[in-house]
Amino acid sequence: MRLLAGAGMLGSSRAASPFATRGVVLLPEDLTLKDWPDRVKQAGLTTVALHHGRSVFEVIKFVTSDPGRAFLDRSGELGIDVEYELHAMNELLPRWLFEQDQSLFRVNEKGERTPDWNLCVHSARALEVIAENAVAIARLLRPTTGRYFYWGDDGKPGCRCATCRELSDSEQALVVENRVAKALRRHDPRARLAHLAYSGTLSAPRRVKPEPNVFLEYAPIARRYDIPYSDQMEGKDGLGNLEANLRAFPAASAQVLEYWLDVSRFSRWRRPAVKLPWNRDVFLADVRAYAERGIRHVTSFACYIDEDYFKRYGEPGAISEYGAGLRQTL
Ligand SMILES: [Zn+2]
Repeated sequence: MRLLAGAGMLGSSRAASPFATRGVVLLPEDLTLKDWPDRVKQAGLTTVALHHGRSVFEVIKFVTSDPGRAFLDRSGELGIDVEYELHAMNELLPRWLFEQDQSLFRVNEKGERTPDWNLCVHSARALEVIAENAVAIARLLRPTTGRYFYWGDDGKPGCRCATCRELSDSEQALVVENRVAKALRRHDPRARLAHLAYSGTLSAPRRVKPEPNVFLEYAPIARRYDIPYSDQMEGKDGLGNLEANLRAFPAASAQVLEYWLDVSRFSRWRRPAVKLPWNRDVFLADVRAYAERGIRHVTSFACYIDEDYFKRYGEPGAISEYGAGLRQTL
């Protein structure tokens, strides 16, 4: 119901845009810039997603704090949707379970079971624990859109046991997501879950098919930002990967998670932040390339655009140009 109300409130600007979701992904500490929700509204954006550094608990701690409640309240008043984009595997499958049952965890390239990253997706018990904990986190971090984002460990490999080895890391991720998506649907009937195509899971899955409530989320972190993405069909994180993924997932629900506004990426994830190297022409060409492929949901990380960033560099005009570019009819 909230989504329908939001669409009405945004009126004709939303109707004219080819993109139903126009979002930014922020860290809790970026909200030291207290008027982020108002900036999002002014830019004609629809959605803020909260992300984190090391732990999901950073986000839980924030939304239960006074500044976090103020952020959620103001976003609600403005009709801005709030979501949570989380590298959650460490919380979904706690590492201390390794002492109880090693078979839950992955086998590395040397053939050793290790609790370092991710899981063994052929462990029924691992999937069960993950599904239960996903629902537990969903009770604490409930998106206004019904769209959930529980990702694997950031850029880390999957299982190389004799059975898992048959599946790519994308397919292993999808096995987990299919299971979590079913569990979430029992908790929240409109729940949909992202399959993150990123780094080791950027290639399209073939041997595993997505559940109907699993949607593609495509994040080409290693692409170039000095030339349009349409000139990067091949090569590192090339656009061809999106096209392959769109043969496995519906385009209508697919979301692009971009880095155009991501000061943290351009700063190589180290403070102090650099000034955002915003390239409006590249951004607009990219928007066209995505729209031509049927994409209707676009977000960008905008991490490190916080109070300190404004003090150093002033108002980044990129936020309003980003919103305007996503609103224009192509
Ligand atoms: Zn395995």
